[in-house]
Formats: sequence, C-alpha cells, structure tokens
Amino acid sequence: MGVVRPFRLRPVGPHSRQSETEVNLMAHAFFGGVHPKDMKAMSCDKAIEVFPAPKQVVIPMSQHIGAPCKPLVKKGDTVTVGQKIGDNAGMCVPVHASVSGTVLAVEPRPYTGGTDVMSVVIENDFQDTLCPEIAPRQSIESLSSDELTGIIHEAGIAGMGGAQFPTHVKISSGIGKVDTIIVNSAECEPYITADDRLMREMPEKVIAGLNVIKKIFGLDKAYIGIEDNKPQAAAALNAAKSDADGIEVCVLHTRYPQGAEKQLIQAVTDRQVPPGGLPASVGCAVFNVATVKAVYDAVYLGMPLVKRVVTVTGSAMKDTRNYMTPIGTPFQALVDAAGGFATDPYKVLTGGPMMGIAQHTLTVPVIKGTNAVTCFSQQDNIEVANPHCIRCGKCVGVCPMHLMPLMMFRSERKGDVENLDALHILDCIECGSCAYTCPAGIHLVQSFKIAKQKLKDAQAAAKA
Ligand code: SF4
Ligand code: SF4
Repeated sequence: MGVVRPFRLRPVGPHSRQSETEVNLMAHAFFGGVHPKDMKAMSCDKAIEVFPAPKQVVIPMSQHIGAPCKPLVKKGDTVTVGQKIGDNAGMCVPVHASVSGTVLAVEPRPYTGGTDVMSVVIENDFQDTLCPEIAPRQSIESLSSDELTGIIHEAGIAGMGGAQFPTHVKISSGIGKVDTIIVNSAECEPYITADDRLMREMPEKVIAGLNVIKKIFGLDKAYIGIEDNKPQAAAALNAAKSDADGIEVCVLHTRYPQGAEKQLIQAVTDRQVPPGGLPASVGCAVFNVATVKAVYDAVYLGMPLVKRVVTVTGSAMKDTRNYMTPIGTPFQALVDAAGGFATDPYKVLTGGPMMGIAQHTLTVPVIKGTNAVTCFSQQDNIEVANPHCIRCGKCVGVCPMHLMPLMMFRSERKGDVENLDALHILDCIECGSCAYTCPAGIHLVQSFKIAKQKLKDAQAAAKA
C-alpha cells in the first residue's frame, strides 16, 4: 500500500444512473464541482448486515474535533456495551465500549488519521452484556432543549459524515441563530452507500431523529437534501414522514461535492455562507443523516454511539458489503468478513476516493466518522511521474470555493506563505475536485494540506 495521501480518482464521464424519483427536484446550484462516475452500483443493493462480532475492538480516545477523552478504565477492567470508557472537560464527547469484555490495554494505537492515539483495547467476551444505565424512553415530550442536548452529548455523538464536530456543540451554538435545519443525505462521494442503505432501511428513525432536533431548536420545518441517484432512499423518507412533521425531502441533481456543508446549504436554500463563515451565519445548521439516526438511538433507545454503517467496497475486493459495525472494529476484520481481497490492494482508504485518506496498516479501527473502507487494485493506479502544470485552468473552473488551485500549488512549492494567505487557501475544503479534473495528474490536495499547515504555523508564530 502507498503512503498516506489523498487518492486521485480516474476521471470518467458523467454518472450513468438516471433519476427515477418524482419528488421535488431543487433548482439551486452551487458553483463548480465535477461529475465522477458514482460507482455506487457495486454496493447499493447490499442490505445492511450486522457485522460478526470482532474478537477485539480498539477504541480511540479522540474521535471528534476538540479535547481528546481521558480513559476511564484500566487494563483488566470488565466493561459492558454502551459503558462510558473515556471523557473529558471542555469541547469533548465521551466514548463508549462497543462490545462487552475485558480491557486488554490502554495505550497508543494506529489511527485512521495517520498517527497513533491513546486507545482502549477490549477483548470481546461475546456476551453482549448491556450497560445497566441504558434504558429506552417511552416519551420525550416533557424533556427540555437543554435535557435533550445533554442526552446527545452524553451519547458521544459527533458528526458522522467525516467532520466529527461535536453535535451538542453545533446545536447549543446554533440555538437562537438557526431558522433552517438541513439533513445532509447527499452522500456525494463515489462508491459509498452506507447512508443510502440507512435511509432505505431505517427511514422512520431518521424522521424521528430529525423531529428531536427540530424540537430542540423550536422549529416546525426542516429539509433533507438528497441527490437524485438515490431514488429509493428519497421515496422511503417521503413514505416515512407525515405532513405534520413539516419535513421536505429536497432531491438535488447529482454533482460532487454536493455534500459539502456550504454547497448543500446553497443547493437547498440558495443562501451563501461567506468565506470563513459558519452555516449559522446564514441561519442554517446541517446534520449528517447518520448523525440524525444516532440522535434517535440516543434519545429514544438510550443507546450511545457504539456502532455505525460502513461500506466495504472497491476494485480490490472480492465482494462488497454494508455492515452495521461496532466502533473499534479493525479494517482487516471488515475486509476478511467481506470475502477478502481479490488482488493485492494498491490503496486502502478510509472514506471514498475524492476525500478519503490512504492507510498504511489495516489494524486501524472504524471510528465514529468512518463511512467506508474503499480498497483499490493496481488497475486504478493513475499516478503520473513528475507531473507539471500546463496552466490549462481546468482546476479553477471546478473549484466550488472560487479559489485558484494552480496559483495555490505554485505558492506552496515556492514556500510563499504570504501569497497562500492572499489566495485564501484556508477556505479550501479539500474536496479534490481540482485534482480530479487536473490533466497533469498533480496531487493538488496533498499540496494544499501541507500549505494550510505551513500558513497556520506561520500565523501562530506571528501571534506568539
Ligand atoms: S488543472 Fe492541473 S494542469 Fe491545469 S492549471 Fe490546474 S494544476 Fe495546472
Ligand atoms: S482548491 Fe480546495 S476547495 Fe477548490 S477544488 Fe481544490 S480541493 Fe476543492
């Protein structure tokens, strides 16, 4: 497998799957974007299967943006499913055991982000003993906004679309500013079908979770933004909601990166989040659809976030799957359960080909933000030796953030930090549209990640 860096998807023509839905097709469009072949047919018809319990889970103490958790257990302790095993003060969400068993170790372990992080390793006793504190609620009518937000916090919910921002912080910081709630059901990354299957199979839980969020914000209306390559999911959501829910399913023309927060807001509401601004600045709050389902689990079932749907897919796989996977399951166990590799993988990514991160080991675990394990064979290797910019400008035309990728790349190469700032490189959402369209095969996103870090370091040094 290769080094840790974004994967470049082979450019192809527009996606071939046509919309079959008759529900409301939204007209708003964001600037730029690309049309990679979605490749979702590889796994979109694979129903969610309960993943065979792994022998061991490795649960990192940092699965969210903010302060890492401190372990609350030690080697030799016994734990139950849903038991809190890590927490901290400040901007932090707790982590919970996803299996019952014995703590084998509390130590740094490899993580999908490319570093080692403190983790709790649990040996599964296969008893599925539930934490005694977990109990369903018959009614939530009497619960206040603060109480519901507290339940979401205690359940350890952080953005499950990959951003991993603490959900209770997004809610509490948005109350009073937000007039529009949007559920991000776009799932615009090629290959990934985890959210598609979740919406098809559990639409009533998504609607119930969204009603909880509406109640917290005190709003009567909400939107679900979904692309037109998921007609069955859109139909399932429409069938699951009632008029009284005040929920509108907005079907959007398929275009990458529709699922980026700012682009989705524009597509659904025609509001534009200013550069450097947050969705709340235009009255919006966006929640990933898996996060909304996790809110349902927490509020109605009393169950913290201990499992999620993960798509296992890619050209290197013998078969593909959508698994309901305990948090902490090693990637290797997922690959093995799906039938193993058909051929030696060229790259294994966490996530999809546009924004996914290549992994150097399959011992890394599924975390709250892991929506897919995508494994590519050598046939997908389109690396170009010594790529050179031919100044075609294609990257500028597809950048949804109105940036100048070719100039950003040149400035990064020259180490011109001042110019990187002037080019607003911190607005780059690392969507990979520029790299996808670049005929020279330049690793633009990799360059921008490095450039952003250089700029942040320089700004921190200047401040100090
Ligand atoms: S698309 Fe690639 S080759 Fe064309 S201007 Fe941008 S960086 Fe250069
Ligand atoms: S410059 Fe950043 S935001 Fe623009 S297309 Fe490239 S990766 Fe996406």
